[in-house]
Amino acid sequence: MKMIPCDLCGDKNYRILYMTKDRYFPIEGTFQFVKCQNCGLLYLNPQPGSEELQRHYPTEGYYAYRSGKNATSIVNSEKLNLFRSIRTVFIWALSRIFPSLRSEMEKEMVYLGPIHSGMRVLDVGCGSGDSLSFYQERGASTYGVEINAKACEEGRAKGHKVFCGELSEARFEEDSFDIVLFHQSLEHICSPHRTLLEARRILKPGGKVWVSIPNHNSIQARLFGKWFYAIESPRHLFGFTPATSVRLLTQTGFQVGHLHTYSLPGGPCFSLEYFLNDHFNRSNPFYYGKIQIKWWYIVAEPLFFFPRLLINLFDFGEILVISGRNP
Ligand SMILES: [Zn+2]
Repeated sequence: MKMIPCDLCGDKNYRILYMTKDRYFPIEGTFQFVKCQNCGLLYLNPQPGSEELQRHYPTEGYYAYRSGKNATSIVNSEKLNLFRSIRTVFIWALSRIFPSLRSEMEKEMVYLGPIHSGMRVLDVGCGSGDSLSFYQERGASTYGVEINAKACEEGRAKGHKVFCGELSEARFEEDSFDIVLFHQSLEHICSPHRTLLEARRILKPGGKVWVSIPNHNSIQARLFGKWFYAIESPRHLFGFTPATSVRLLTQTGFQVGHLHTYSLPGGPCFSLEYFLNDHFNRSNPFYYGKIQIKWWYIVAEPLFFFPRLLINLFDFGEILVISGRNP
């Protein structure tokens, strides 16, 4: 464990918000979640060391390392998958009429502009490489950076060039990428500030960065506090709001392009689950070798459908998406 100054502004003054723990895996340890008194960045302080962090990234069961349709589904059950398939078709049909309902991948493609052959796309924290495949299908040369060896192999098997390790170790050439993606990975990295500086170094002039991270200014974060599922200690070392993410991009030399938020269908269920666990003394974290499906998720998810539309409309969703352009 190591005390650090704020990664965004360098200030050492912070306020303790909560003591947190790993709520996803039943692994011991408590962590201090703090807020910078100067700029409002949220982070774990002290930061866990690499050995401790490794224990909290078991290869089996961590959703980012799963491939295919299971990768996006935290809960795996045939009944629920059938329900999700029906819902996907329903939402797809609606999204033809209302563009704001389009899938996040579709939105990403729209905002990043046409993808063509010869383009070089890098996904930092690419997991098993599923997101990169969208770019590969459109003719781009796809590169990934990933710390998990098994996920690296899966990514390579899909035809992506994956570097196993940290972005800073990969030593990519200057001005060599058109797009650098961070899909739910920046909050896991020990210095988002240094990482974005590196992203800018390797991006061509006019190249774009696309970052999606949990939104700690979301309704869910405010409502659930330390039970907000996206706190995900200790894997998430940092927490951002729209204001701190804009500051991070501008301070690392990017022109901020686009910002929106959205809410995941199961999000409120996960936060509620954590809340109930603590209040009713239930010791069932999400993952115990096998994920247990809760019947009430199936009932609750459709109830959240319309509230989610409103939340997305007013940009209070728990996932924040921001893009920047290398001038
Ligand atoms: Zn700060």
